[in-house]
Amino acid sequence: MSEYERNGCNTDSIHFYAMCDSACYRSKEKAKQEFGLIKTRLKTYRFTKESLCRALKAGHAVCGSVLVGGTKDANFNAGQLIGVDFDNAESIRDERGKVIEERKIEPGEPGYMYRALALARCRDYGVYPVCVYSTLRESRDWVKFRMLFLLNEQIDECSTIRSAIAGLLQIFPEADQACKDASRVFLGSNGEVFETYKSRFWQPCDVDLFTVHAPKSETPSRPRKAGILPRRVRKPIVRGRHIKIEELKRSFDLLSLMGESAGAIARNSEEYAQFVECPICGHHGCLTYYKKSNSYYCFSKDHDRGGSVIDWVMELHDIQFQEAIEMLGVCDG
Ligand SMILES: [Zn+2]
Repeated sequence: MSEYERNGCNTDSIHFYAMCDSACYRSKEKAKQEFGLIKTRLKTYRFTKESLCRALKAGHAVCGSVLVGGTKDANFNAGQLIGVDFDNAESIRDERGKVIEERKIEPGEPGYMYRALALARCRDYGVYPVCVYSTLRESRDWVKFRMLFLLNEQIDECSTIRSAIAGLLQIFPEADQACKDASRVFLGSNGEVFETYKSRFWQPCDVDLFTVHAPKSETPSRPRKAGILPRRVRKPIVRGRHIKIEELKRSFDLLSLMGESAGAIARNSEEYAQFVECPICGHHGCLTYYKKSNSYYCFSKDHDRGGSVIDWVMELHDIQFQEAIEMLGVCDG
């Protein structure tokens, strides 16, 4: 029996192999300078979701594939972990394709992505990441993050890993489309790693499934040309399927979404989960998630209200109802 069969879809307790650097970095510049060194130091380790998150949090670079020899796809041996980057940047390239400048994409512009929306889209496609983390260059006013996913089994064909990555890039046209290699090295985080509560395996064969089942007009398949952003109108984040408001309130993975901005859980009982921090009012110990009703409440005296996933998105991003349900991809009525 494989670990996949033993554990169903849940990735919490499974083991997988990936490569990891022994050094830690907190600065992108330093890591970039020493990238050659990082690559030579990569060694294969047996990870769990938790130990992977710990390594990333400490600032270790990780390669999702096990390579024998240098870091290129030709040396691919096995792999199970893949990822996508959201830099919220547009690369301006010269005629030879070399990046000469990076322009920031502002919230609301086509191609912009933030964590809650990325997670909501994951949910819609059934591809649950094992973690979401801040990359080294994320700052207060420039959102940059990476999502990692575990495939349902160790893959020994490089082309399968590559097509799984290509599938992810189709789901996320906002992601950096330049990273297609199985041998890619992911630098560690700046310290912010969100380990998802509900991560699941993802079968590489699902790539075809997405391509076939996504409505043609909405398939975000066009790759980015150098220096040109894809011309896209702002679309609902949930594609291919319209869900009703009540269904969204009931079934949305609100706990994971809350954890993404609230962080650690202080108390977790059968009925509720209480977060240490509350991103809505800024106080401690006031934010509670209720499992039965899939709702939240902030008990602080200057806030004292709560509600569904829609209220959460409205409060957190300070937006109106209509904008929140558009973000969540709900078809009203
Ligand atoms: Zn609060």
